[in-house]
Amino acid sequence: MNQTTDFNYFNTLLVHSVGERVGPIAPTITPSAAYGYVDAEEAEGIFAAEVNKPLYARVGNPTNAKLEAIVAKMEGGFGAIATSSGMGAISMVCTAFLSAGDELLCIGGFFGGTYSLVNETLARFGITNSFCGVDDFEHIENALKRGIKMVLFESVGNPSLTLPDVQRIIDLCNHYDTLVMIDNTATPLLLRPLQMGADISVHSSTKNMSGHSAALGGIAVFREVKEEGDKLLHPKYADVHKIVKKMGKKAFIPICKKRAIRDFGMTANAFGSFMTMIGLETLSLRVERINTSVEKVAKLLSEKLPKGISVNHPSLPASPDNARYLSDFPQGCGPLLTINCGTKEKAFAFLNKLKMVILTANIGDNRTLALHMTSTIYSDFNEEARKFLGVDEGLIRVSIGLEDPNDIVADFVQAATAFRL
Ligand SMILES: *Cc1c(COP(=O)(O)O)cnc(C)c1O
Repeated sequence: MNQTTDFNYFNTLLVHSVGERVGPIAPTITPSAAYGYVDAEEAEGIFAAEVNKPLYARVGNPTNAKLEAIVAKMEGGFGAIATSSGMGAISMVCTAFLSAGDELLCIGGFFGGTYSLVNETLARFGITNSFCGVDDFEHIENALKRGIKMVLFESVGNPSLTLPDVQRIIDLCNHYDTLVMIDNTATPLLLRPLQMGADISVHSSTKNMSGHSAALGGIAVFREVKEEGDKLLHPKYADVHKIVKKMGKKAFIPICKKRAIRDFGMTANAFGSFMTMIGLETLSLRVERINTSVEKVAKLLSEKLPKGISVNHPSLPASPDNARYLSDFPQGCGPLLTINCGTKEKAFAFLNKLKMVILTANIGDNRTLALHMTSTIYSDFNEEARKFLGVDEGLIRVSIGLEDPNDIVADFVQAATAFRL
């Protein structure tokens, strides 16, 4: 794949972009909501985006700006916007580019919040949608041919663990001049969508980027706008042409700031961004460690758990996604694996016997986490939606942490042998 996923490169890059060599080494937190301008002329220049200084914290602050620069570099993007949460990042991009009557295509399995954002909330505002499986290229091409405005998919379906053909989908979107946004939450460093030609990569930084579960946050990273022939200049994006013509290369940022952040206010706060940077310092070490552990834990659990409890991870030869895992995700596809107990009762009994693993609705933490799906995140979803998202009654999602993989395996194995139904 034409992308850098060298952990040594990222180790150096991340520790030295978060820390400074001279003066305070740790990032500075600038909590001020307002910023004094030198004079009336400077105020005019700042509001016209001709002077690059803080305007008011709803549209950006220096601590967020530092985080944005680091993540843009890490993703091989041109710029980024930090948001209040991962959902904030996805809704910022959707509301900046989509209006009533526009259509969004969603490919593959989805995080529950994204599914309800598209299916319920954006739909209430007249933004239509269609969903299809990762390999339903007939549906994908038909949608692109009818001139839809945006395509959204997750690098790894959460919790379905389906793996899309990322490059093929991006290439098709580029061929049809259609914006493509990838939710890269599960695979920072492992997949670099912008380097593969995507327009926008979004993350819930609450997850792997932070690792510590101490800061809710999100971030959207953008590519550079081309001087000529950019897809944003296609007639279907006419409502942003004025900004693209005025702002050139960096137009994605003012489009999102003016058309979403300014008015909806899904802005990150300085303290949250500081905490995210503290996590980012060690991201490459953690990603490398966790992705090695996931494979090991998946393999050992598939051997050691009793009959009736199955394990799914794309690294397992029995997984339908194994071939794509080996070819496209050589360093792993993130911290998730799933365990299926067959029924809700068995899943509950199993979870209730765990001694170390934490039961919570998060992923990408430094600790191993587990959660039953249909009774929690997907409790509001009907049968059809659950089926499409690959969620059934016995499903437990597990996010592997930094513990010794043998300790993780031991906890699941003792839980499986301790419960009786
Ligand atoms: C958690 C998550 C989100 C939402 O992020 P929040 O920070 O919780 O708003 C979006 N996408 C994926 C894949 C997630 O796991």
